[in-house]
Amino acid sequence: MDKIGNVWVKRGNTNVGLIEFDGKRYLVDTGSSEKFAKALLEEIGSVDFVLNTHAHADHIQGNHLFASVGARIYTDDLEKVFIEKPFMESFYLYGANPPHILRESFFRAKDSVVQSFQSEKWPSEIEFVQLGGHSPGMTGVKFGNALFCGDAYFGQDIIQKYTYPYLVDVNGFLDSIDKIPKLDVEFYIPSHGEPTIDPSKDIMATKNALMDFIQMTFDVLKTQKGVEEVCFEIADLKKLHLNSGTFYLFRSFESAILSYLEEKAEIVNVSYGKWQKK
Ligand SMILES: [Zn+2]
Repeated sequence: MDKIGNVWVKRGNTNVGLIEFDGKRYLVDTGSSEKFAKALLEEIGSVDFVLNTHAHADHIQGNHLFASVGARIYTDDLEKVFIEKPFMESFYLYGANPPHILRESFFRAKDSVVQSFQSEKWPSEIEFVQLGGHSPGMTGVKFGNALFCGDAYFGQDIIQKYTYPYLVDVNGFLDSIDKIPKLDVEFYIPSHGEPTIDPSKDIMATKNALMDFIQMTFDVLKTQKGVEEVCFEIADLKKLHLNSGTFYLFRSFESAILSYLEEKAEIVNVSYGKWQKK
């Protein structure tokens, strides 16, 4: 693990944090694979608490393992059910009983027993920062001079690789990302990207990528289209490498953009399921 400020970080596909305070150990997320979690457990030993920033499978794959050695798992109220029953994550992504592809490990972890942050009294040194938008209850964890940002923004390289910043609520995401530089910390630790003292370039890259997709969605709606037609057209234009699983993530992202544009009164629902520029 690397020491960053007064916290520890284990770098991986999903960065994981460790806070040691007053004789207790707090793990921020548990990694993107069971293999990663096993190596982490070997390196650090058991922890008292797991603090999940949100429910996405790449943040909770080690929950089961850490729980098996005594850790208690916590997350935001709005994320709780999706960690207890990761099947629900696939269910909401699909909108009904999910097909086979959304039941695979990329989308699912093992069930965990989870409490909500709100149910426990925490030391005042550990602060939970509401950063919803990427997922409904995404929560940053602040300790001393460090902030674990979860997926409130992504590193520039990550954005370049995945092209779009996944989210479910555009306004929520923009409010959260604007909140980050205003927090009184020295070190910013995103789950995907480089820990840094200045996240402004990563934040800018994340926002620019989002704005690009918003503009493109608006542009393709010169004729009326349903969300899946919007997805196919934009995936083509941006040469996105979607597969039958990641398609549903992209559809969820584009659905969030459509309701954002509707809220801004730039597009209308012209007939059932079809959208068009105003
Ligand atoms: Zn996520």
